Amino acid sequence: MCSVPVHLVEHPLVQDTLLILRNQDTEAAAFRRMATRISVLLAAEALRDLPTVTSVVTTPMGDAEGRRIGADVVVVPVLRSGLGMLDAVLELLPSARVGHIGLQRDEMTAVASQYYAKLPHGLDRSYVLMIDPMLATGGSAVAALDLLAGAGARDIRILCIVAAPEGIALVERHFPDVRIFTPVIDHGLNDRKFIVPGLGDFGDRLYGTL
Ligand code: URA
Repeated sequence: MCSVPVHLVEHPLVQDTLLILRNQDTEAAAFRRMATRISVLLAAEALRDLPTVTSVVTTPMGDAEGRRIGADVVVVPVLRSGLGMLDAVLELLPSARVGHIGLQRDEMTAVASQYYAKLPHGLDRSYVLMIDPMLATGGSAVAALDLLAGAGARDIRILCIVAAPEGIALVERHFPDVRIFTPVIDHGLNDRKFIVPGLGDFGDRLYGTL
């Protein structure tokens, strides 16, 4: 039984876009567009509780009170496939700060090793959105979360496009407070640690490196 706060994003537009991403006939250009579309929708859902501050602007007809974002948001793509979700989040939050974490998955063992990390300062006051489309074994997610927590991050949310039960369970074991936003939890992993049915190798499909 899994107690990680997993938020299943069931919006019809999210589910429709997911099916296009899953389809093996979807080519790289369309795959990129769909990755951006689904990421906008997931990010909007994950940031639903972002604090706002009251603000006044002047319309051509007079003053109007409203609310603007009142929080620092840091987006952290896990390289390389997380980059396919970054533009979407920056479209919503152009002034968000961006960190990068580079993790390489060993083709044979599926163990993730870090080759790059650059994170903004002051993460303890930020809403941190870690973007990593495929939550498979959870190994790279936990490695990235270790780095973020070590850098002081306290409010961390993971945005992914497909999650496996194994990955969710590993995140739960190491980081029970981290919230996961995903459109779906798939059946599981195959012997090569790919998600089934999943959508294949996200990075390869995004960048046409199949
Ligand atoms: N990474 C991918 O791109 N796809 C998977 O199925 C698992 C990890």
